[in-house]
Amino acid sequence: MEPMLKVTDLSVSYGHVEALRGVSIQVEQGQIVSIIGANGAGKSTLLRTISGLVKPLNGRVEFLGEPLPKKPNKIVAKGIVHVPEGRKTFSGLTIRDNLLVGGYLFKGKELEKDLQDQYKLFPILEERKNQYAGTLSGGEQQMLAMGRALMSRPKLLMLDEPSMGLAPILVEQIFKIIQTLHEAGTTILLVEQNAQAALSIADRGYVLETGKIVTSGTGTELLASPEIKKAYLGG
Ligand code: ATP
Repeated sequence: MEPMLKVTDLSVSYGHVEALRGVSIQVEQGQIVSIIGANGAGKSTLLRTISGLVKPLNGRVEFLGEPLPKKPNKIVAKGIVHVPEGRKTFSGLTIRDNLLVGGYLFKGKELEKDLQDQYKLFPILEERKNQYAGTLSGGEQQMLAMGRALMSRPKLLMLDEPSMGLAPILVEQIFKIIQTLHEAGTTILLVEQNAQAALSIADRGYVLETGKIVTSGTGTELLASPEIKKAYLGG
């Protein structure tokens, strides 16, 4: 079967800094694929390039068997939605309005239904729907950023370090929600420094080191690998 997302030989540079060097990954429909790697390995650059925010020097990105359009808004309309590192919610808008921004492709009853779906998935967002997003905690902002992304009904949801800066209990909650989305059929591409959590839920994982994929395997295989344990799982 044709993979949902096929990235082939992608290279990206920022001036003289080579951020990605010949990266190839594949995501099958319905999978969770996790990319792990240290700070600065190129994880965010990979997601930003797939989203059309960064132009590659070389390589191809195909989605559902076709090359992706160039413009970020057209890429969203094709079904790829990116939850950026640091959440980037609109702090001066209410939670409800943040969600509505995410739902810009829909109107009327469809939009209202999507809003209710997010409130079901994240009850705290309904409780706080009239509060400004800037008043939320880090974990709540992560939920809002994910809810906002889901409002555009992604076929592929890309999450950049959703666990960053969160207390362990919240990390657990966020990963449970990722699994719930997966069970409901959403395909997920996740990048994380928290290798243990990211590989535990992954169908497939890739390890990115200074811009290159150095290893890949099922989540279970990578968790059991002595090299991965030593480098990424604290021994
Ligand atoms: P982090 O977890 O810190 O976000 P990362 O794995 O996501 O790390 P990237 O943010 O993709 O890594 O960065 C990859 C490399 O590209 C790093 O060396 C970084 O310093 C560099 N880089 C990232 N963004 C830019 C930019 N806008 N201009 C110049 N260099 C950049």
